Amino acid sequence: MNYIDPHIHMVSRTTDDYRRMAMAGCVAVTEPAFWAGFDRSSPQGFHDYFRQLTDYEPRRAAAFGIRHYCWLCINPKEAQDMALAKDVIALIPQFLDEPNVLGIGEIGLNKNTKNELAVLEQQIALADQHNRLILVHTPHLEDKLKGTLLIIDAIKRNTRIDPARVLIDHVEEHTVAAVLDAGFWAGMTLYPDSKCTPQRAVDILETYGHHRLVMNSAGDWGPSDPLSVPHARLEMLTRGHTRDTVTQVTLHNPATFLGQCDKFRFDSATD
Ligand SMILES: [Zn+2]
Repeated sequence: MNYIDPHIHMVSRTTDDYRRMAMAGCVAVTEPAFWAGFDRSSPQGFHDYFRQLTDYEPRRAAAFGIRHYCWLCINPKEAQDMALAKDVIALIPQFLDEPNVLGIGEIGLNKNTKNELAVLEQQIALADQHNRLILVHTPHLEDKLKGTLLIIDAIKRNTRIDPARVLIDHVEEHTVAAVLDAGFWAGMTLYPDSKCTPQRAVDILETYGHHRLVMNSAGDWGPSDPLSVPHARLEMLTRGHTRDTVTQVTLHNPATFLGQCDKFRFDSATD
């Protein structure tokens, strides 16, 4: 069964992970720009990271028959430094026409600060100016609902942005309805034993249905599992969901959202 992982940080993963993902049926990944676990010391650090995402990583994925796409931005954590953010945002347009760049992401909020919100608004405007898709990170822990609502408001304030062209990731039980009701796509970002587990994600699917919902693995440098989406597929099958439903959620749904950018292709259109 083929699947797409629409949010995975492959720069943090080994080549063996690509091999295991390909064996599990992964045909395409999309990789948002994120916090590297340390603050970069200059805009040049982001320039090199964007080169890695647009040049090196697609070639590493292609060796396993996986198409690699990416999203560019300054992440919410480093966006607290507004001078740095200004310089990084100025770097992004030169990369937007690279063949694997789908849009702006993962933008959002970390601690829901004023500076983070200002940089979020600048990057929403950047996506609008270049007519690109948007991928959003929502904060964790107790500020998640407040942060999610602030982000939804910020995007809605830019009335030219079509919510159907925005994917809001890291949704959980208490935030998914707000995201879907506002017309956005919602992504369940799966972690092995914290935040949204595959079991909780399938509970959410059973509550909210399959429309505009996708699943991804995060697969970052912290505790995470690049095979979380196949684990969730197995969870669906063992609960009695049909193979068609599993394929709808893990292949066709992400393909529908991502296909709004005409650069997006994957090799196997059917299961
Ligand atoms: Zn991420």
